[in-house]
Amino acid sequence: MTVLNRTRTRADDQADDVVPGIIDSPTGYTGVVGDEQWAAEIRRLAKQRNATVLAHNYQLPAIQQVADHVGDSLALSRIAAQAPQDTIVFCGVHFMAETAKILSPDKTVLIPDQRAGCSLADSITPEELQAWKDEHPGAVVVSYINTTAAVKALTDICCTSSNAVDVVNSIDPDREVLFCPDQFLGAHVRRVTGRTNVHVWAGECHVHAGINGDELTEQVRAHPDAELFVHPECGCATSALYLADEGAVPQDRVKILSTGGMLAAARATQARQVLVATEVGMLYQLRHAAPGVDFRAVNERASCRYMKMITPAALLRCLVEGVDEVHVDPQTARLARRSVQRMVEIGHPGGGE
Ligand code: SF4
Repeated sequence: MTVLNRTRTRADDQADDVVPGIIDSPTGYTGVVGDEQWAAEIRRLAKQRNATVLAHNYQLPAIQQVADHVGDSLALSRIAAQAPQDTIVFCGVHFMAETAKILSPDKTVLIPDQRAGCSLADSITPEELQAWKDEHPGAVVVSYINTTAAVKALTDICCTSSNAVDVVNSIDPDREVLFCPDQFLGAHVRRVTGRTNVHVWAGECHVHAGINGDELTEQVRAHPDAELFVHPECGCATSALYLADEGAVPQDRVKILSTGGMLAAARATQARQVLVATEVGMLYQLRHAAPGVDFRAVNERASCRYMKMITPAALLRCLVEGVDEVHVDPQTARLARRSVQRMVEIGHPGGGE
């Protein structure tokens, strides 16, 4: 395993807990290269701890390669619940590890760096949701899976980007719906369902919101034969549909897809080039799924710094020390589990982010 060389400071020494070579910095744990030796050590430690390692599609390539399973947040949480191991190491952001804990309350769930948050999940607090509910008594709360356990506990039905439309369509058309926290996904739901009684919270993910219509228009002009894969959380989702309506890109070449849907579409596409509007970590999985297709990011800078906090050093520290453990109090977990289960009962939950 390669430990990076640089002059160590006293602060570095103090920040190190147990594992030599690992340096704690405000942007995450560093000091270890994700090479073959590191990967072998990760596999050995995971076996010793009776742990399964799960990695989200937006993780660094080295983390995706070493993981037992790679996927979207909900698929990974379901794998966690079925895994024979009693410890789950969730390489993703905090709300995802919480969802795994909600669905596997008796297992130990670890996240390699608990500072890995999510700007979208943080865009609504339980207090704000409760106040919004108080303003709309009788409304049904639908929350995207990118929410904290406390917000899920105040939610009637969770949804993913694959089934948000089906979930809202399952609700009595005369009842108001409070949709949170993502405004772009909410706008997509309003557009497709045609419902005017869906109120949308003005939250957003800083990464997806940064993939905007101007960039998309420029890329479509530069690559006129390419297909477009767009995550509905993106600021450009509306622009993509507008471009299709205007004939700038044929309707059948614009695909609004969850991350899981993108992988299925990548395997099936006949296109030689695909423009991808989501976090850039997704390109690794898409290129792996369809090596003959030229996948290009609509915005190369669309990288989630929280996802990238799960570094090789963080994963090593996690498995050596058994940290950071994720806890959800049993009452919150019970209520949150109910909102996730209602979504599953409606069917086709797909995968969310
Ligand atoms: S890409 Fe956005 S929604 Fe996804 S984890 Fe990062 S901040 Fe959250």
